[in-house]
Amino acid sequence: MLIGGENVAAAGGEWFDDVNPATGEIIARVARGRDADVDRAVKAAREAFERGPWAKLDGTDRARLLWALGDKVRAAADELAELETRDSGKPIRDTKGVDLPMVADCLQYFSGWANKIYGDTVPVRGPFLNYTRREPVGVVGAIIPWNFPILMAVWKIAPALAAGNTVVLKPSRETPLTALRLGELALEAGFPPGVLNVLTGLGNEAGMALVRHPGVDKIAFTGGTGTGKEVMREAAATLKRVSLELGGKSPNLIFADADPDKAARGALAGIFYNQGEVCTAGSRLLVEASAHDAIVERLVEGAKRWPVGDPMDAKTRVGPMVSKSHLDSVMRYVEIGKQEARLATGGARVGERGYFVQPTIFDRVAPDATIAREEIFGPVLSVIPFKDLEEAVALANDSEYGLCAGVFTKDVGRAHAVAHRLKAGTVWINTYNVFDSASPFGGTKQSGFGREMGYEAIELYTELKSVWVALS
Ligand code: NDP
Repeated sequence: MLIGGENVAAAGGEWFDDVNPATGEIIARVARGRDADVDRAVKAAREAFERGPWAKLDGTDRARLLWALGDKVRAAADELAELETRDSGKPIRDTKGVDLPMVADCLQYFSGWANKIYGDTVPVRGPFLNYTRREPVGVVGAIIPWNFPILMAVWKIAPALAAGNTVVLKPSRETPLTALRLGELALEAGFPPGVLNVLTGLGNEAGMALVRHPGVDKIAFTGGTGTGKEVMREAAATLKRVSLELGGKSPNLIFADADPDKAARGALAGIFYNQGEVCTAGSRLLVEASAHDAIVERLVEGAKRWPVGDPMDAKTRVGPMVSKSHLDSVMRYVEIGKQEARLATGGARVGERGYFVQPTIFDRVAPDATIAREEIFGPVLSVIPFKDLEEAVALANDSEYGLCAGVFTKDVGRAHAVAHRLKAGTVWINTYNVFDSASPFGGTKQSGFGREMGYEAIELYTELKSVWVALS
């Protein structure tokens, strides 16, 4: 792992195996960090924050470093994309075409904020000058999942570093490789040692030790809702700042007046992109009853254009599930679905080597079915009919989650009215799964809180200080 600018093994000399989910083969042995390693990484980050050259850099210096790291990422994009695909099973057409361009863009977008973080002068009563300053929180512990490993890393690192924090990054045990390479590139770009540390290990060991460590000022977490609750409970002991990006069961609404081809394409991209391992996946497709059959017909036909296979093949759109245990979990839901609803297409594992699942669609699913309520995190869609707008909104909001939602309709007034009534951090109208570094992203309800990206991310990684000056 990378601590204080050096590649080091775990203090205890332990390792864990990193598997390529397309083949089941071990592709790397990775240092298994525990408490002592967490302590070392946090101390390195603290030292860099308080006393290292980083502490003396100004916003423009930080901007230059972030821009340089963006350039390094662009130059190494093919290598990083291949590493990501081998480690996670994400199709190479996506890692090359989507993830890596977004990573470079995010770093350079936040480079632009680094020297534009300022406070206000406040019109207070009495002979005083009062002004506010936005200061870095300090040492940030960033814990990220395996579905967009390097992208989730920079969603946290870029605003945190732009604001002047230092970071200990804990990637998932399933996908630690691109985070390690990113740490090396940061050093090459000129970031001082200790500013970005990459701590590898298991979530319940290294991850939990990071959450508990008193030297960490903030935890930025993306992962499952259950884990997020545990992180919040443990962080309470030291009252760390916490931001949580958690799971979802996002509703995607298709009204009968929508263009059926466009809506079906949007629905398919909403569920099968990244083999459904997406927190924003539009996994509950709510379709106006009169359009149900026509839409399902197009979905079944369209699912054939989502080939499953070797993620290194440029034609593949659906790669393997990230691990054997995740494959088992997804297939358990598929079997439950076969009891609960009509299987329209898919419903089986593909091959014995690697962890592949067919794009799967269930239709006429009851809103209270298990597959309509629980996050599956795989290529499994539940189509649920609704009779009118009121029922559509009620069904859409009847979920413990509130991350994203989609609306397909040609009626512009209805589109906005529904968008305003949906309880979600993001609503897409006549599109799905679009992102930009400038647009805030995050959840409501049990999908978490805090907004990443955009200026809101700068607020997430700063504390506001109020300064008073006597004028007489
Ligand atoms: P987990 O919650 O299991 O893991 C997320 C991260 O937390 C990993 O780095 C993991 O490490 C670590 N972790 C696990 N247990 C602990 C613990 N006790 N203390 C501290 N850290 C811990 O989620 P998955 O990896 O399974 O990711 C999928 C989930 O993430 C889905 O539910 C999805 O909805 C959500 N997600 C949300 C996003 C959003 O933006 N809202 C984006 C992407 C995913 P390790 O893997 O080494 O155990």
